[in-house]
Amino acid sequence: MKIRLAASLQLDSIVDGEGIRTVVWTQGCPHHCKGCHNPSTHDFDGGALVDVSEIVEEIKQLKGQDGITLSGGDPVCQSDACIELCKAAHEVGMNVWCYTGFTYEEMLRNSKHKKLLEYVDVLVDGKFILEEKSLDIYFKGSKNQRIIDVSKSLEQSRVVLVEKYMQDKDYSSSVKKPEYMFV
Ligand code: SF4
Repeated sequence: MKIRLAASLQLDSIVDGEGIRTVVWTQGCPHHCKGCHNPSTHDFDGGALVDVSEIVEEIKQLKGQDGITLSGGDPVCQSDACIELCKAAHEVGMNVWCYTGFTYEEMLRNSKHKKLLEYVDVLVDGKFILEEKSLDIYFKGSKNQRIIDVSKSLEQSRVVLVEKYMQDKDYSSSVKKPEYMFV
């Protein structure tokens, strides 16, 4: 099985989910959100085709990573291949976050996408909406997107959010004023 990727695995990301993560940049996205940060990943013929087994091996060799993040592009468009990557990550004790322009509800209506959900721990769903862009939110580009605990959502047949990441960032407690500042 092959997967079309936009880039090599990116190690040590701290902005694509909780902890230190390895990002899988998939190639191909049907959503064309206005203001997309990564338009070069839209073309379904772009990037490079790679054996899934190669990426699986790379994932199994990772050190010092909390998890993998499926991003792109839209990884959901390559659900079968992504499932294999999720399995590899779980096998070595890493969790899986997945970014998609589809909503959770849309994914449930497509059998392949629904199957992928069974292997994803956290889903960041929905298109990027430029008018709702914010730098004060965790791990998302725009406020409409949701950070979803997938296993709880499937278990309870309702969307269960990861509440701590749905709050705006609280700079008052995290930013320490340097001692040389007088204002
Ligand atoms: S879903 Fe993501 S990659 Fe696709 S167009 Fe929207 S922002 Fe860009």
